[in-house]
Amino acid sequence: MNLVLFGPPGSGKGTQSERLVHHYSMTHISTGDALRAAIRARSPLGIKAQEVISRGELVDDDMVTDLLESIIAPKRKDTDSFLFDGYPRTVEQVHRLDGLCETLNLVPPAVINLHVPEETILLRLTGRRICGHCGATFNAYFRPTRVAGVCDVCSGPLTKRVDDSPETTRERLRVYSSQSAPVLDTYGERGVLYTIDATAGADDVYRKITRIIEENY
Ligand SMILES: [Zn+2]
Repeated sequence: MNLVLFGPPGSGKGTQSERLVHHYSMTHISTGDALRAAIRARSPLGIKAQEVISRGELVDDDMVTDLLESIIAPKRKDTDSFLFDGYPRTVEQVHRLDGLCETLNLVPPAVINLHVPEETILLRLTGRRICGHCGATFNAYFRPTRVAGVCDVCSGPLTKRVDDSPETTRERLRVYSSQSAPVLDTYGERGVLYTIDATAGADDVYRKITRIIEENY
């Protein structure tokens, strides 16, 4: 079984990925992580990617596809189950992934789309507070500390991430939904798209995902 996990920033995609990978013994494929690893390792692809990024340009579909193939191919003999996280982002990448599945003899993926209303995401992201001291995380709206601005664990000062401001968050969500709509449409037409309401807690979302997997795969 192969899965694409889809969801905007703040949808809890990271948490669900971790649990799914563990529960179903899947291999987690994150293009962002893979790219950073290639750059660190200074592989030929990593060097090329670094050059593109330092020119302020985006790594193109060819490079991302090559990168994916280079990480999936060696693992292919040990597993036939991958979870794609943050890929594909464009319809072009959907076609690239189709090609990769064919080349590597993988079953085409099912797509789980975590849907959370924009207003909820805004509160989740803009309310996020991190302790500058011990790294504990809180949320001003959903998980407030006993004393505002002070960590419950170590009494350290809480900080906000600069890129979690309402303006930046709205912009990120706007980019996300305009990019992802055509990708979701493509998978929807193929009948492999499962959109679930991911507003409730992580356990509830996880139950919904596993039910879909168990009923269909
Ligand atoms: Zn703390």
